[in-house]
Amino acid sequence: MVDILSAHVAFLLFESIFCFISAILCALKNSQEKKARVVITLLNIMAGALLLFDFFEYIFHGRPGALASFVMYSSNLMVFLLCDLFLIVICIYLSIVIFGEFSFKKDQPCRKRNILCFLISIIGMLLVLISHFTGLYYTIDGMNQYHRGDYFYVSVIIAMLGMAIIFSILIQYRKKIKKYRFLALLSYILLPLIGFIFQLLFFGFTYMDIGIALSVNILFVENIVYQNKRIIMAERTDIRTGLANEQGCMEWLEEHKGHPELAEHAVVFFDISRISSINRKYGPETGNRVLKAFAGSFKEEFSKEEFIGHLHGDQFVAIIRKEHLPEVMKKLSDLKVKFTDDTGRDRESRLPVTAGVYEIKPGDFNAEDILTYAATALEQAKAGTGHPIVYMTKELMDSIEEKKRLEAKIRKGLENGEFEPYYQPKVNSRTKLLCGAEALARWNHKGEIINPNDFIHIMEMNESICDLDMYMLRAICKDISSWKEQGLQIPPISINFSRRNLADPDLAKKIDEIVTESGVPKELIEIEITETTDEFSISVMKEFVDDLRRRGFCSSIDDFGSGNASMAVLREISFDTMKIDKGFIDRDFSKDLTILNHIIKMAQSIGLTIVAEGVEQENQVKTLNSFGAEIIQGFYYDRPMPKDQMIERIKNPRYDK
Ligand code: C2E
Ligand code: CA
Ligand code: CA
Repeated sequence: MVDILSAHVAFLLFESIFCFISAILCALKNSQEKKARVVITLLNIMAGALLLFDFFEYIFHGRPGALASFVMYSSNLMVFLLCDLFLIVICIYLSIVIFGEFSFKKDQPCRKRNILCFLISIIGMLLVLISHFTGLYYTIDGMNQYHRGDYFYVSVIIAMLGMAIIFSILIQYRKKIKKYRFLALLSYILLPLIGFIFQLLFFGFTYMDIGIALSVNILFVENIVYQNKRIIMAERTDIRTGLANEQGCMEWLEEHKGHPELAEHAVVFFDISRISSINRKYGPETGNRVLKAFAGSFKEEFSKEEFIGHLHGDQFVAIIRKEHLPEVMKKLSDLKVKFTDDTGRDRESRLPVTAGVYEIKPGDFNAEDILTYAATALEQAKAGTGHPIVYMTKELMDSIEEKKRLEAKIRKGLENGEFEPYYQPKVNSRTKLLCGAEALARWNHKGEIINPNDFIHIMEMNESICDLDMYMLRAICKDISSWKEQGLQIPPISINFSRRNLADPDLAKKIDEIVTESGVPKELIEIEITETTDEFSISVMKEFVDDLRRRGFCSSIDDFGSGNASMAVLREISFDTMKIDKGFIDRDFSKDLTILNHIIKMAQSIGLTIVAEGVEQENQVKTLNSFGAEIIQGFYYDRPMPKDQMIERIKNPRYDK
């Protein structure tokens, strides 16, 4: 039979060791809540010490000799002191976990109760010291036997008073802490209390101390679990907005996978593109504040079964119930945020939103697929479809798939050299001589010649257009070189460069390198660029044109009159040639013709060469001639033709009409 006293003493020792080990673990663990970790370490050391002193007391209890007497006295003193000291440390811990910090400053919540708890604890410790010499709480007789003193219960009442204060704080602010943290803290009140009742019944065993130590164990475990949860939360949370991030979103979908309710939700990807202009205008800190303010106000819209996350930059994702969709979309279409700029001024800004929506179907199991559908719808909304909100439908999905297949085919075609330049002559309508040509891309796919209308807009979207333009430049230089070798008189050839290329500040340099390497004289190459307005400012285009000029190339503004930046572009940028858009030539209303006449006069007066495009009829040539425009490019003279035909044209540069 195990003797119950020995078991108790062994338990004290092991529990004490456990507390010390916990203290070491706690001190070594690098957690975010640094202050809480320090206090938990201290609590474990104190609990370890408390039980160790208890242990010594039992070991030396009733043994004769000076050593036993010393241990009995000092152990008892320490046990009583520690019990009071716990009140202070627990009080500090409580403030840290509830309010984030502990201080005696005026703005510290529960300041009065904290002070009271400290006072009670200090008074308690002073009484312990007095008792040590007067025997108020306990006495130790000549046989080194422990006896409760007449005022032992005062020490218990003091501990209870402190605990009552801690209890009142805990109850008042229970909503500010998580449920498990609340229960762990509550154990500090309940376990010693239960211990005390046991102690009353079974005098001789220190159940109250064990209660304190067990509660410290619970606080330690809760702290570790809480820290781990916070690490996981931090991995799932975007720090700028406090919303879940992409991982959090994936996990939400994974958690709900297979639940029938998932199909009652829709995923909305949306983009607040104005955030970048707020960043530019007011600085990134203001931008972050706006994001945070938006996230905060928007979050309130959602119920518990819904989800809102911040993916990156200005992109958000919401997973909402389908019946909630119209309301959320309405809010998104007229979004306003209030914020304070860096100078402290209050501002309100409208935030236009582009959004892609995917309504989840019962068979949708893959989180990544679901997000991709919504993201693709957003891509469509941003691709300038004219609709800021795009719903992902079966048809749209099919057309996107089709587009992707075509994109892949085009890319492969580019790799396999399936593209080739066709040349459309430019003719001087007065001398009736060939005076230039425009190179136009054709895709020779499995023997079929495909026109640019079927591939240029797709290439423009994924920027492979830049590869095509460089590819064309090389091919054209190769053609010109071979014509030169044949001793032909080659007129200048113009080449189209998509505005997408303007993102590359070294564009002119790259063109120069390719042309120089091929040995083609630079005056034979002219670069055409369209005038339409887009994200590239006029200054970027001007820099490119100036760079070309410095390097000895001519440039022309293509499709003049079709965009809406015409005049501004002409004023700012020194092109050599203006190509008048086919749309202008086609119209023959007197008002349009008057405008055309004036455009030609104006362009000539600032030294531009005029090329009229898309001319199909003789009367158009006549009208243009009467306005002073001589150079004509159009079906009237020639259609775009392959290089072999172009060689013949160069050899016979005279036209009959
Ligand atoms: P663009 O630069 O305005 O080229 C003139 C277009 O008008 C050519 O169409 C040409 O075939 C057509 N055209 C010329 N004369 C007439 C006419 O009398 N009547 C009619 N109806 N059309 C005429 P194409 O070859 O289909 O090229 C279309 C557009 O594709 C070009 O318009 C250009 O913007 C783009 N493009 C073609 N090749 C390239 C290239 O290598 N790079 C880039 N970036 N764009 C290219
Ligand atoms: Ca052109
Ligand atoms: Ca054109």
